Amino acid sequence: MRRAYDAIVCGGSFGGLAAAQQMGGRVLVLDRLDIGEGETSASAIPLACLENMGMAHVIDQVHEDIVIHTRRRSQVLRFFPFSTFDYRRFCMDLFQRTGADFVRARIRSARAGRVETTEGVFEAPVVVDAAGWRTAAPRAERQAARAPRKSFGIEARQPFRGEGLHFYVGPSRGNRRFYWAFPAGDHLRAGLATYTGESDLSDDLVRFCHDLRLGEPGPVHGGFFTSRLIDPVRDGMFLVGDSAGMCLPVSGEGIRPALVYGQVAGRLAERVRTGEMTLPGALAAYRGIVASRARGYRILDRLQTVLDLLPDPLFAAFARAVAGDRVLPWAVRAYWNVASPDLLTPGPAREPLPRPVQAA
Ligand SMILES: Cc1cc2nc3c(=O)[nH]c(=O)nc-3n(C[C@H](O)[C@H](O)[C@H](O)COP(=O)(O)OP(=O)(O)OC[C@H]3O[C@@H](n4cnc5c(N)ncnc54)[C@H](O)[C@@H]3O)c2cc1C
Repeated sequence: MRRAYDAIVCGGSFGGLAAAQQMGGRVLVLDRLDIGEGETSASAIPLACLENMGMAHVIDQVHEDIVIHTRRRSQVLRFFPFSTFDYRRFCMDLFQRTGADFVRARIRSARAGRVETTEGVFEAPVVVDAAGWRTAAPRAERQAARAPRKSFGIEARQPFRGEGLHFYVGPSRGNRRFYWAFPAGDHLRAGLATYTGESDLSDDLVRFCHDLRLGEPGPVHGGFFTSRLIDPVRDGMFLVGDSAGMCLPVSGEGIRPALVYGQVAGRLAERVRTGEMTLPGALAAYRGIVASRARGYRILDRLQTVLDLLPDPLFAAFARAVAGDRVLPWAVRAYWNVASPDLLTPGPAREPLPRPVQAA
């Protein structure tokens, strides 16, 4: 087995595959599961992400409307079109494009130069940590680092059809539940999450499915996801996706930032391989790019804290205000720019930011 590579990517999901896709040379992707296994999410993202990556063939369904249901009111929001898609196909196809080697192994620790796994040690000058909320850092370092705030969610796939992405806002107790029903072609993805990271949600999912007349929940998947941005550089590594807390607060949309910043990190890593940049230079550029979007993250972070506590009528008023002509265009632009799908490309791009975008 080869042990030395130009780059090692820890984690073969959204962030890791997006990064690997941008790199040339000898790249190794490590994951404890096979590529396309272990889906945790409802796999809903802005349609533009899949279109810009040339991945429209994995779409299950396109949604124009987002509908927020509070106890007394339903509010339709038209942000930009979203799509639900097939996680397994997405990952398999993206991995095919990377040309990378894959080793199935549990990562024990990672830092620039060296990754220790259950399959032995691998070495590369460039390492990308895209191992999700657990991160590839050793446990002691993980505990010492300022950990990203964690939310928790679960969902099941039910044999029903529908239109639009539906969110149902539970009553406020400081650990509000947010439920969703996302149609995806021949089935519907029904789930719930808490911002507090509370993980005992199975009974709530049963109740939700019964309330919506979706029957008993089928097999359940899910897990933690992050909602507070941290420094995206650690131990000489690029951190992308949930390992850097990039999942967007409020919405729990984590796939788009993992893809966008995965590609950005991959392009900078490629410049290190080709000798156009030093590793410290590339890491500094990456940190700067992520920092230029940090304001949007901070606003969403504060909003998440407030929304968790708002009484139901005020939550409904908030949804109404966002849907209004004055606020909506601004909100849409700001929310888009935190992790702009305009940065996504179908193949490797030369510039870290291939098209000009406005900072959030
Ligand atoms: C129930 C639920 C529903 C969600 N729905 C959506 C949604 O509809 N849209 C959206 O945008 N976001 C959604 N999210 C959030 C989204 O899933 C995450 O933000 C996103 O998956 C982060 O991508 P990532 O590539 O950073 O990490 P992950 O997708 O978590 O990938 C990490 C990879 O690293 C591997 N790994 C981890 N530790 C190790 C280790 N020690 N050794 C080897 N491999 C390891 C894992 O097996 C995995 O393949 C949802 C989350 C949950 C829990």
